[in-house]
Amino acid sequence: MPKSVETGEKSKKQAAGNVYWHEGLGALAPTIEVPMNKVDVAVIGAGYTGLQVAIATARAGRLTQVIDMHELGWGCSTRNGGQISPSIKPSLSVLARRHGAEKASAIRKEGYRSLDWIGSFITKERIFCDYQRCGRFHAAHTPAHFDTLVSDTRKLAREEGLNFEIISRDTQHSELGTDAYFGGVVLKQHASLNPAKYYRGLLALASKVGVEITDVCPAINITREGRGFVVSTPKGDIWAENVVIATNGYSSGLVPWLQRRIIPIGTYMIATDLLPKALMDKLFPTDRVVSDTCKVVYYYRPSPDRSRILFGGRVSADETDPAISAPLLHRDMCRIFPELADYGYTHSWTGTVAFTFDTHAHIGQHNGLHYALGYCGSGVGMASYLGYRLGQQLVGDPKGATAFDNLPFPARPLYFGKPWFLPSIVRWYRFRDQWQIRRAATYI
Ligand SMILES: Cc1cc2nc3c(=O)[nH]c(=O)nc-3n(C[C@H](O)[C@H](O)[C@H](O)COP(=O)(O)OP(=O)(O)OC[C@H]3O[C@@H](n4cnc5c(N)ncnc54)[C@H](O)[C@@H]3O)c2cc1C
Repeated sequence: MPKSVETGEKSKKQAAGNVYWHEGLGALAPTIEVPMNKVDVAVIGAGYTGLQVAIATARAGRLTQVIDMHELGWGCSTRNGGQISPSIKPSLSVLARRHGAEKASAIRKEGYRSLDWIGSFITKERIFCDYQRCGRFHAAHTPAHFDTLVSDTRKLAREEGLNFEIISRDTQHSELGTDAYFGGVVLKQHASLNPAKYYRGLLALASKVGVEITDVCPAINITREGRGFVVSTPKGDIWAENVVIATNGYSSGLVPWLQRRIIPIGTYMIATDLLPKALMDKLFPTDRVVSDTCKVVYYYRPSPDRSRILFGGRVSADETDPAISAPLLHRDMCRIFPELADYGYTHSWTGTVAFTFDTHAHIGQHNGLHYALGYCGSGVGMASYLGYRLGQQLVGDPKGATAFDNLPFPARPLYFGKPWFLPSIVRWYRFRDQWQIRRAATYI
């Protein structure tokens, strides 16, 4: 029996703040209560970036302490959509204008390398996290966007060897049970995983290689001392030769230089009620992850057990509460899949990603502090990859070099970490997307 969305305010409230991926996972092993006071490497932030840095440094024999201001797994790394892409938004020509043709090509290649790397890493380390090289269906929300998408994809195939398939509107039901789109492309290299299981796999590996972790332990200040730094926390000071900032969307005023370069943006997801198998098979004939050409993108997928749909996007101009974003996401999902109007949602959550002014990630050093962050909403592969590479750099392993190393990291005048300009930009882009969608619907 379909469960109605109108099951009442109580169930809607219960959904708010519930992260689907956290369901049914047992308690984590306790972390060490007090951080070590003298280490080789101190990592601030225990998401994918921080844990990957720590795994690489501890493996090379460096005494490594990770701290996180919240309980482990609180950040984006257990609450994302689990979609894995090359994570590089700027095109080859945009990057070439900024950095020259050779560097641009190296940056783009690094994106594909990150995609391959995470798959090999998960396999080699035997992390059971429902990883699948499932491919992505990237759907066009208007006929004009389909034309652009096809020509852009063909160009990428020529330039970068992209493995793709064009899907016309006539055949798109083989990918997605909807008439809301005008065809799209399948990007065959993209992948998916269960983010919380992957995170737990990283925690287990970190513990195996000797990383010490202390949670509920915010870094509140960093000062230089001797050949290293002192990281001050309420649980005690840590002296470290190397300090890594791995705080991504939750970067605060700890390093004001980074705060001026990171734009924190909330993104929102829901998980639907359990859906009948026949309906899932009709709406999602494959296991592919899905995104679309809207400027304020929707991203969604079947859950790994194909029992429900996990649907995400940015449905509000201002930052909002998961109790408010859930019905808005549900409404937009039902525009794509009208059959879902009879079903509600059981989970609704949010997290804060980090955009940058040049829309790609950064890894480097500022005043002796190392950082890797700014994945622009696509950090499952890239945060893991750059984290591990940064760890290799810290131990002097030449394999740690990346095309991103120490790229200029732009700030903007009058920007100090609070994105005052964001609501009006999101409002305008959403208005434009919705207007295009409505206009395109009249062609059908
Ligand atoms: C709803 C949602 C959906 C997403 N979907 C996708 C997707 O499908 N595909 C994809 O590739 N990416 C996705 N992302 C983005 C992806 O999850 C992130 O890019 C990635 O997890 C970043 O990892 P991280 O380790 O850098 O940051 P996080 O996992 O956010 O970890 C940062 C940590 O730093 C800690 N911290 C901050 N300040 C301090 C301090 N002063 N002291 C100590 N600790 C501190 C925080 O508590 C936090 O735990 C999504 C994100 C969200 C929120």
